Amino acid sequence: MSTPAAAPPLSALTDREWRLIAAAPHQLLVDGRWVDSENGATFDVLDPATGEVLCAVADATPADGRRALEAAVTAQSSFARTSPRERADILTRAFELLHERIDDLALLMTLEMGKPVAEAKAEIAYAAEFLRHFAGEALRIDGGYQTAPAGDARFLITRQPVGPCLLITPWNFPMAMGTRKLGPAIAAGCTSVIKPAPQTPLSMLALGAILAEAGLPDGVVNIVPCTGANEVIEPLIRSGLARKLSFTGSTKVGKILLEQCADKVLRTSMELGGNAPFIVFEDADLEEAVAGAMTAKMRNMGEACTAANRIYVHESVIEEFGSRLAEKMAALRVGRGTDEGVTVGPLIDEAAQAKVTELVDDAVTRGATVLTGGTACDRVGYFYTPTVLTGVSPQARMATEEIFGPVAPLTPFSTEAEVVAAANDTPYGLVAYVYTNDLRRALRVGEAMESGMVGLNQGVVSNPAAPFGGVKESGLGREGGSIGIDEFLELKYIGIAMG
Ligand code: ADP
Repeated sequence: MSTPAAAPPLSALTDREWRLIAAAPHQLLVDGRWVDSENGATFDVLDPATGEVLCAVADATPADGRRALEAAVTAQSSFARTSPRERADILTRAFELLHERIDDLALLMTLEMGKPVAEAKAEIAYAAEFLRHFAGEALRIDGGYQTAPAGDARFLITRQPVGPCLLITPWNFPMAMGTRKLGPAIAAGCTSVIKPAPQTPLSMLALGAILAEAGLPDGVVNIVPCTGANEVIEPLIRSGLARKLSFTGSTKVGKILLEQCADKVLRTSMELGGNAPFIVFEDADLEEAVAGAMTAKMRNMGEACTAANRIYVHESVIEEFGSRLAEKMAALRVGRGTDEGVTVGPLIDEAAQAKVTELVDDAVTRGATVLTGGTACDRVGYFYTPTVLTGVSPQARMATEEIFGPVAPLTPFSTEAEVVAAANDTPYGLVAYVYTNDLRRALRVGEAMESGMVGLNQGVVSNPAAPFGGVKESGLGREGGSIGIDEFLELKYIGIAMG
């Protein structure tokens, strides 16, 4: 790929941005080689802040997907035999390289995804942390030795890699969703084919280059960006060559993939949609609750499955809470994520902007009051104004659908029982946030939440050392924590006769 010296006229990109894009990998990574798709097809990656085409990326076909999986299958047995220390050292080196290159990687992510550079940097650091965490876990894969109850045998219990994995990631955290899967897969000794979202393939391809530089053997991680996700992935799932699928994305697609995985009984990990309640009791520290709501709502412009989607505030404090939150939201600076001081970037694409617009209009039609914002920004790119709505009806679409945008809907409540019932009245169960200074209430409500995670007086729960995941239709399995590696390991017991 040639490197132009300067951005073409009319481009919003600076020369540095242009050079960064031109130097980033744009091809498929198959068996340790960067290759074009077999039919030469490419797709465009856009800057969501301007709609400008950043570059063309190789568009994998089903045959490319098959080749990638075959490379993973071939590499599996020798990779499974590598020592835990070797795998840990590769992950540690990759962790270091992510930090050494954090400025360029963050800028690349901002260009393809839109989030402000400071948030992109925080994501690279978060992504790197999964590599460091699982470098440690690789060294702690344990087993056991037991005496059978009758005393006539021994049980030797060991853990082995599940085998070649298919990994599918979304666009909202283009790097961290990759390392959250690749970290434990590599630590466990599994090879993989990973498919990033077509909106944001560049961060994943850059990660692939870094893993190779860190010493990962050819074929262990293969990357196949593509626009025909179903055409490429379904035959791989049904081939019987892969043993596991780990998916992060919508519940709708997760259900389709679960059905496909039933065919060959693949192990599955599913991180799906959320509809997080954020509950503020009358005894909460209001300043902390407002700050927590800002984080839970505005991290990643609201484009997170953990985003506060329904904010329930006790009727005695909702007016005060609403005006403080609206003041903070109105003070945010919307713009291109690369610009100094910008705190809210564009939404990922036109469809996302249209959906947020529809949901806000629907809530207002059903009686909500706009405290601030309420409209898409009148500028090029897919921007939406940070918005606070109050008096949002439980019948509004945004009470049941993921907003995935910078919109905070407030609904009043009067009793604990009422708000717990409302919070749990959803098929989702990823995370719930609870603000209260009453210890008994905190524990009572925390236990009553039908969710895999609870943020107690804190607006963020994601941490590589903690088990991330949901219940109900929000998913299956956990990522991160000491349990995260188990998703990539099979338990085997060897019975030994002693008679
Ligand atoms: P979102 O609506 O946030 O884009 P999706 O669930 O549609 O969420 O996408 C998450 C990931 O799943 C992306 O990488 C996308 O390309 C991929 N994907 C979408 N549909 C399928 C499918 N039928 N099979 C495999 N992957 C899919």
